[in-house]
Amino acid sequence: MSDETLDPKAGSLLEQQREEPKLENVRIVLVNTSDCRNIGSAARAMKTMGLSQLVLVDPKEMPNGQAQAMAAGATDVLAGAKVVGTLEEAINDCGLVVGTSARSRTLPWPMLEPRGCGEKLIDEVRNFPVALVFGRESSGLTNEELQLCHFHVQIPANPEYSSLNLAMAVQTLSYEVRTSYLIAREKATQEKPVQKKVEEDEYPIVEETERLYQHFEDALLATGFIVPSHPGLVMTKLRRLFNRVRPDVKEVKMLRGMLASVERAAKK
Ligand code: SAH
Repeated sequence: MSDETLDPKAGSLLEQQREEPKLENVRIVLVNTSDCRNIGSAARAMKTMGLSQLVLVDPKEMPNGQAQAMAAGATDVLAGAKVVGTLEEAINDCGLVVGTSARSRTLPWPMLEPRGCGEKLIDEVRNFPVALVFGRESSGLTNEELQLCHFHVQIPANPEYSSLNLAMAVQTLSYEVRTSYLIAREKATQEKPVQKKVEEDEYPIVEETERLYQHFEDALLATGFIVPSHPGLVMTKLRRLFNRVRPDVKEVKMLRGMLASVERAAKK
């Protein structure tokens, strides 16, 4: 008998590591979609890859009969779609958010390849909901929306014609998620897990990080580092810095404690 089986607590840890990644924790978020047929096609693309959680942020056209026709056998995914008003609401409880972009943006952000994006989402989906965010047919995601994401992913399409149809972009990236899921599932059943401490909630969810950014902004206004009439790019750059570093839950707590002490000192 190995040592592992003697420790009752170790049993549950090992079980956790054997756990299959949960596809039901992978969320597809479509922002401000104009044509609801694309929503139907996206639902179909998702279901073929085993995904079911669709969130629509302020769709210009609510899914109708045309969307249902495009969804074909995936009307259940369409019917289950949650509709919210803002991107923040769609991702608040997520620990990892990846935004999609058909073109490079002026402000560089941590980037993932589609394959790496699938791997990362599946790697972290055991801990919290994760989201893949898609933009408008006409103009993609705004810079503010992209800044709410930890990473960006670009499908390396033809540089002279790089913009895929929305549902086809959903299909391509959902396929990568599925590929990584199948590999991880296979590993979970075959590999003898090594015993290591499983850190739960290693990374904070979006809601907590947003509170940290708000705290930074308040404190930097109090100290005079940010001038309200000329805020500049301070907050954008801070977001980019923290996305690169990805502080864990304890580090976020420590930073908020530091900010509170700065605020107290600024008040004196
Ligand atoms: N004209 C828009 C493109 C919108 S395409 C623009 O210039 O940004 C609609 C959505 O499909 C995009 O917001 C993105 O979510 C997705 N998409 C299209 N092509 C993509 C690509 N090459 N890589 C990643 N996402 C893509």
